[in-house]
Amino acid sequence: MKSRKLANNYYIIIFVIFVLVGFSINCENSSDTAHDRLKEYLDTIKVVNTHEHQRWFQQYDDHDINFYTLLNHSYLKSDLVSAGGPRLNTESLNTGDLDVLWKAYGSFLNFSRNTSYYSHFLKGFHLLYGYKEPYFTKEGIRLLSEKITANYQNRDDWYDEAFKKAGFETMLVDQYWAPFNTELDPRYFTLVFNINNLATAATQRTMKYRDDAPLSANLYKLADHEGFSIHSLEDYLAFADHLFQKFLDNNVVCLKNSMAYGRTLFYAEVPYEKASTLFSRDSSTLTQEEKKALEDFMFHWICEKSIELDLPIQIHTGYLAGNGYPLERSKPTKLNNLFLKYGKARFSLFHGAFPWVGEFAAYGKMFSNVYLDLVWLPQISREAAVRGLDEMLDCVPYNKFFWGGDCHYIEESTGSLEFGKSVVAEVLAKRVERGLMTEDVAKDIARKIFRDNAIRFFKLQEKRNITE
Ligand SMILES: [Zn+2]
Repeated sequence: MKSRKLANNYYIIIFVIFVLVGFSINCENSSDTAHDRLKEYLDTIKVVNTHEHQRWFQQYDDHDINFYTLLNHSYLKSDLVSAGGPRLNTESLNTGDLDVLWKAYGSFLNFSRNTSYYSHFLKGFHLLYGYKEPYFTKEGIRLLSEKITANYQNRDDWYDEAFKKAGFETMLVDQYWAPFNTELDPRYFTLVFNINNLATAATQRTMKYRDDAPLSANLYKLADHEGFSIHSLEDYLAFADHLFQKFLDNNVVCLKNSMAYGRTLFYAEVPYEKASTLFSRDSSTLTQEEKKALEDFMFHWICEKSIELDLPIQIHTGYLAGNGYPLERSKPTKLNNLFLKYGKARFSLFHGAFPWVGEFAAYGKMFSNVYLDLVWLPQISREAAVRGLDEMLDCVPYNKFFWGGDCHYIEESTGSLEFGKSVVAEVLAKRVERGLMTEDVAKDIARKIFRDNAIRFFKLQEKRNITE
């Protein structure tokens, strides 16, 4: 009797185990979470990328492109320096000796395996090259370099393939290295006018330019070439008007200010008469303070121009790429006077103003004409982006956000998009799970961040025939 009862109990226990195991397998197989559904939805969106520096480096035409060439134009290279490593040396890169390069930089790459700069860069190779390893290794870099070299021998085909695979619709390109170039390949790119040079060249009127200076980067050479002679501030502004018209003729969609790399973001009000007097002086006699005043005048003039021409202004705020800048100069609060004065201008602040993410969000909330671009924030710190976006969604309406990549090569742009999507999916899924929003609204937010908001804000339907 006793043994039969015991046997029965065994049967019951085994049955329960089967049910539990079956249930847990079922759970593991199911990808039916809000996060997975949102990520799947994000992958269907053709992305309007609001900020890139995509370019072809002519100086590399005489040697092969390998992993280290891409690393040299990535953000990750500055983490190697942060870790105490040597700066990437172009000469040793050009030799393409992967053993020597790993010996010099491998250990510092390894020390950076935890950073967002590292992880998003790696993601690009997972997606575009089928690289499976969790980290870059000496052998992995050798295999990747072979593929990279082969791809860049047919770079046009490779670019087209990668651009489509990544899921981009268009990229707004800031050509800070050639700010007056208005020719871009419309299959991939949309024109932005970087105005740094237009503002700073006002302090260089009497400086001689070099004969080999490119027209696309030297304002006075370009003016001479196009038959303008610049002797007064009035002449200078007339040429600036001509430049704006040229950009408009080529469907420019916005202006870009990344002047925080060279100076403070505080632009004082300077009267025309004072600016005019400074402009007419021998440029070499201008003090730092006088140069700043001229630049300040120019940027106020540009803000007024942006209203007249209905062109938004993108502004770099917060963390500065590279290793060694005075951080304080890029604090977004330094722009407050402009937001108050130019209520009709449209501003897009960049990078979550990291580490001043709270101030960044506050401006999006306070001013109807200040928009927030998450560009590059997930790559600087994924967790800061997750925390920051969650906070921003608490206080700023969601028609005010954009996303951009901010990279020179398509590999890194692809990784940065994957990183950006993972941040947005994580933040939105958590908000759905906490009952703070429905999944439909979460999807709408995702679509607005990666596409629709940019189409509206930059008037891409009219200018580029891109529809929501
Ligand atoms: Zn940038």
